[in-house]
Amino acid sequence: MAKFDKVQVPKTGTKIEMEDGKISVPKDPIIPFIEGDGIGPDIMAASQVVWNAAVKKAFGGEKKISWMEIFAGEKAAEKYGAVLPDDTYKAIEHFVVAIKGPLTTPVAGGYRSLNVSMRQVLNLYACVRPVRYWGGIAPVREPEKLNVVIFRENTEDVYAGIEWQEGTPEVKKVIDFLNTEMKTKIREDSGIGVKPISITGTKRLVRKAMQYAVDQGRKSLTLVHKGNIMKFTEGAFKDWGYELSVDEFRDKVITEDELWDQVKAEDGVTPTTKPGVFSKLRDGREPGNPGDRIVVKDRIADQMFQQVLTRPDEYDVIALPNLNGDYLSDACAAQVGGLGMAPGANIGDVLGLFEATHGSAPKYRGMDKVNPSSLILSGVMMLRYLGWDKAADMIEEGIKKTIAQKRVTYDLARAMGGVKPIACSEYGKAIVENM
Ligand code: NAD
Repeated sequence: MAKFDKVQVPKTGTKIEMEDGKISVPKDPIIPFIEGDGIGPDIMAASQVVWNAAVKKAFGGEKKISWMEIFAGEKAAEKYGAVLPDDTYKAIEHFVVAIKGPLTTPVAGGYRSLNVSMRQVLNLYACVRPVRYWGGIAPVREPEKLNVVIFRENTEDVYAGIEWQEGTPEVKKVIDFLNTEMKTKIREDSGIGVKPISITGTKRLVRKAMQYAVDQGRKSLTLVHKGNIMKFTEGAFKDWGYELSVDEFRDKVITEDELWDQVKAEDGVTPTTKPGVFSKLRDGREPGNPGDRIVVKDRIADQMFQQVLTRPDEYDVIALPNLNGDYLSDACAAQVGGLGMAPGANIGDVLGLFEATHGSAPKYRGMDKVNPSSLILSGVMMLRYLGWDKAADMIEEGIKKTIAQKRVTYDLARAMGGVKPIACSEYGKAIVENM
């Protein structure tokens, strides 16, 4: 057993083990949780009521999560004098699966986002965000058509945090090197950021996304990039993504180019396709038939923002570099009714840290007011990660029913119009009633 400084390991409960690169889950796993700052305590309390009730109902008391609090952000600063103590990293590594509320990132003060730090230190390289419609009000006419799972690279790209401020001796050195040695023409009064994208980072992300697509029987994998402009980073991401898919999943995938080649070879033939997998040719012909293979395709990022609005049902699993993934996941979440409903997970080879995707909304702290769905649904992802799908299904059903009954928190109530909002805690209880 790992030794902790200030974390209380529960007396009952068993550690999740790793066997052959997979997790082995006991009936009573110890799961560390970080309550989070701002609205964190409210949404964590409401969510734990829902998760516990679902596990109890689904498995008749045979399974149970043994919760263990660990600390980050303001609570950690009080307890340890540090916002991200070693204990927290150690606990997540030791217990393998953990869940967290949102953490405040002070704008001044010079330390990096706690969320970004945790992802990097624990090597949680895939940020996984499923986005689908849960009912209620959404800004588009057919929100149910979007049902995607976004795999965003978490450790590289401009998020690697390699940058130099304008006017410093460091940036001057970098600019001098680039302008003299590399013959660039960068203005002297520039700040500089570095955008590394590697084969390693790309392939392990795309492998995760592909494996997910295979395991879940999804229809396509889309690589989203800006390779038309940034050939050796974003363009390479696309190339390595295709390479990985074909090299490691050859009998499970077909590329979009291969499908068009089928059409060209059988000119005049209109093969039947699974509806909505991809677009028609300009002349109206359908591409070839993928059969039960997963179609691997790519889209340029700016076009992808149009596509998720105009042809949302042609996309399924999506893999992207860090910054594109950041933008696209929020845009997709907004399309189905907002960040309050969008869950997320940061996954490494085996470790999984599940989290609400929104921030700590400090102005609502302690008001028992905000929507806990994002965190509840992150817990649903966690339950599936544990293989406890029955409990996960029950929560999803409970959420759909509760929203359909218009028993919702202020954000959804406002969007619905004329609906009296209920408290965060009441919403949690309503989900339990509806499970
Ligand atoms: P935010 O997501 O905290 O809040 C923005 C607005 O969104 C809120 O004012 C509120 O109107 C709404 N909102 C957010 N969560 C909601 C919920 N669950 N239910 C209903 N409405 C909700 O974003 P922000 O104000 O830009 O950031 C606040 C702090 O959170 C910052 O310090 C930021 O760095 C941090 N942050 C943390 C995470 C994370 O922990 N993963 C993510 C984003 C931002």
